[in-house]
Amino acid sequence: MHAVLPTAPVTGRVAESTLCTKGKSASYVRHVSVDVSGTPLEGKWLAGQSFGVVPPGTDANGKPHKVRLYSIASPSYGEDGHGKVLATTCKRLLAEREPQSEKDDPSDHRLFAGVCSNHVCDLRAGDPIAVAGPNGKRFLLPSDRDAHDYLFLATGTGVAPFRGFVHELFVGPPEGTPARAAWKPTRSKVHLVMGTPYTSDLLYDGFFRQVAKDHPDFGYHPVISRELRPDGGKGEYVHHYVDRTLPQFEGLLRSDRTLIYVCGLAGMQVGIFQTLAQRGLHAGYLDIHAELAGTDPKSWTTEQIKRRVHGTRRCMLEVY
Ligand code: FAD
Ligand code: NAP
Repeated sequence: MHAVLPTAPVTGRVAESTLCTKGKSASYVRHVSVDVSGTPLEGKWLAGQSFGVVPPGTDANGKPHKVRLYSIASPSYGEDGHGKVLATTCKRLLAEREPQSEKDDPSDHRLFAGVCSNHVCDLRAGDPIAVAGPNGKRFLLPSDRDAHDYLFLATGTGVAPFRGFVHELFVGPPEGTPARAAWKPTRSKVHLVMGTPYTSDLLYDGFFRQVAKDHPDFGYHPVISRELRPDGGKGEYVHHYVDRTLPQFEGLLRSDRTLIYVCGLAGMQVGIFQTLAQRGLHAGYLDIHAELAGTDPKSWTTEQIKRRVHGTRRCMLEVY
């Protein structure tokens, strides 16, 4: 971690920037890859970590902008197979202004454009970008990948680390790279449940569908919250989908080989934890405080879950 500090970022070069939504989405999410060759970041990250971007210029107080973190969407061997190019999945923050504190004018609804996400999404191939990191030591694949099976639960850009994981587990480095010689596809079972508002917001959908087609041990489950389901049922969140289609996950969840990874919206763990506990599938994944033991998980408040229910070493959370 912290091979490059955000106070002294190094210069990478944008290698590629492409939209990674499925169709004509109202959101702009870009797969942005950055060549970090020749910097201390080269070969120094693992899939699941994040890296820092320091946007140019100064903030409203005249101070240099602070670093923002972005999940690495690449496998540990990089987009190139040599650990020289890393990528992220960057969503432009665009919204109408809303008061963030009491001193803000509630009638101000001009456009709010996030500083760093729009900087990253505006960059073109060849442009410089100030980067730091890597960051994060928990949201990683275990060193013995085949010793475990995996349930990956994502919302929106939270799918970024899972692109890296799935690549590393099933696709592998490009032929002819040194990393390819040491790589073997996993024999583990892996399921990815990915939630977005509309079908057009799905990210890397083509990639995940292709891996699922090529590898029967990989299950890809897009879950859409604001459209009717093909069976006519109403839209749902990832935990609703896991609950409704539980028979396909129950064996996986009951196995003591399984690791759960959750990445995306702050609060998405609440529904997931409740579902696991309600279905009696929490053993090994959740530490539930004595205060809640024996109570109906349906009655747990969000606050109780945040304070009193924690993931174990078999349940990795990256939500913000
Ligand atoms: P900023 O200019 O920093 O604006 C955001 C701030 O503005 C908010 O904190 C809020 O205080 C305020 N604000 C928000 N909405 C409004 C509004 N409507 N009106 C007024 N003020 C408002 N993002 C990705 O896109 N992809 C990733 O892979 C990713 N990975 C991350 C990994 C980690 C570990 C973390 C912590 C964050 C990650 N993020 C990711 C989020 C990212 O770091 C930035 O927070 C995000 O891009 C927004 O930054 P910004 O500079 O564009 O917005
Ligand atoms: P998005 O495209 O808006 O998708 C989010 C989906 O989750 C929507 O379908 C939404 O449904 C649904 N949802 C809302 N509340 C939920 C809940 N409580 N439980 C389960 N699902 C819920 O997502 P996005 O704009 O990309 O945002 C993704 C989030 O992930 C952001 O907050 C981002 O900061 C975070 N993220 C974190 C990391 C990290 O920590 N490493 C990395 C990348 C992204 P409705 O909108 O229809 O209600």
